[in-house]
Amino acid sequence: MPRNIYDEDHEAFRASVREFVERTLRPRAEEMIAEKTISRDIWLDAGKQGLLSLDIPEEYGGAGADDYRFNAVVAEEISAFNAATASCFGIHSDVCPPYIVDLGTEEQKQRWLPGIASGEKIIAIGMTEPSGGSDLAALKTTAVKDGDEWVINGSKTFITNGYQADLVIVATRTDPTKGAKGITLFVVEDGMPGFTRGRKLDKVGQEESDTAELFFENVRVSDENRLGPEGMGFISMMQRLPQERVGAAVSNTAHAAQILTETIEYTKERKAFGQPIGTFQHNKFKIAELVTKIEVTQAYVDDCIAAHAKGELTPVDAAKAKWWSAQVQNDVLDECVQLYGGYGFMNEYRVARAWRDARVTKIWAGSNEIMKELIGRDLGL
Ligand SMILES: Cc1cc2nc3c(=O)[nH]c(=O)nc-3n(C[C@H](O)[C@H](O)[C@H](O)COP(=O)(O)OP(=O)(O)OC[C@H]3O[C@@H](n4cnc5c(N)ncnc54)[C@H](O)[C@@H]3O)c2cc1C
Repeated sequence: MPRNIYDEDHEAFRASVREFVERTLRPRAEEMIAEKTISRDIWLDAGKQGLLSLDIPEEYGGAGADDYRFNAVVAEEISAFNAATASCFGIHSDVCPPYIVDLGTEEQKQRWLPGIASGEKIIAIGMTEPSGGSDLAALKTTAVKDGDEWVINGSKTFITNGYQADLVIVATRTDPTKGAKGITLFVVEDGMPGFTRGRKLDKVGQEESDTAELFFENVRVSDENRLGPEGMGFISMMQRLPQERVGAAVSNTAHAAQILTETIEYTKERKAFGQPIGTFQHNKFKIAELVTKIEVTQAYVDDCIAAHAKGELTPVDAAKAKWWSAQVQNDVLDECVQLYGGYGFMNEYRVARAWRDARVTKIWAGSNEIMKELIGRDLGL
């Protein structure tokens, strides 16, 4: 079904993102897996292409696109290359900048946004802690006021871009008596005494992304690094999670659609019993089901993209798009592996990596269970 949310400006932009993928990313695919990271020069190249700054206003070095459909185009094209790189770029460009743009002081915007836009300053967000990620309001990392400074103690885990981040938005507890209303955000900067990182975590998939534990031991930050009002951290996160979740839905769908396209080609070439495996009725019907699932999912995700571009996407609709697309992505990729037979289990095949890479999408940025909890609550249950 033709998609109708993009116009020619978006498609022209898509062509430039594709060009970036082919020129800069694809030749480095194996290197990114081996190094478990995206090299600095790739970040800088992405910055030069204007891919990191769509949400950053022009006066701070960004593209100031103010149209989420451009963000979605980047997410779709990078996800078609691989899921991990899309997640790192997504955290850096779509998830973190809105916090600084919306909550930052003029001085903070000038200090941080130009470097984020250019790729010189890589940014991460630390919400999840070893003791739990689903129940964000229960986070334990503390920030205690001491004169004009705050002293941060605690740790975060599973943080995307965490190993190489220059800036980390850290959710802390500033008032132990106030639950969700006692959470405040700070920006911790690379090199601050007491801020250290563990190793790059060894994941089941998405090797290309750096995912790390972060430790804060008496890290002193000035009040000028507080992001937004004291006690407003939880609400600030809840307000910005829909963009993270619709971005996840865009990526999930694009990633699965790309691998399904590659799989269909494979089933036309691979033969068994003297005929292409895709022509066996079982497989033909299976592929018909998978294509239908992707297209129907795409239609809902497109509605969410269009709604978000107009500022009308609700957190509940973002939650629906996120869990559903994650489930469909995992179901589709599992069938794709089956269609590849033994090759589908070999790491050198994209389908195998994609299958492993997809597993986390039902867990991160709010698990499928938490998404259903939000939807259920909205139904008055
Ligand atoms: C590769 C990767 C990258 C990540 N990147 C980041 C990042 O950049 N920043 C960041 O802050 N976090 C990040 N995360 C963390 C991620 O968001 C959390 O893993 C996720 O929110 C789940 O938290 P948890 O792992 O502590 O699981 P838990 O909260 O311990 O949950 C365990 C299980 O219990 C279920 N559960 C919990 N509560 C309920 C409930 N009320 N009803 C039903 N089931 C429930 C969950 O769905 C899950 O299945 C990342 C995680 C991974 C794996």
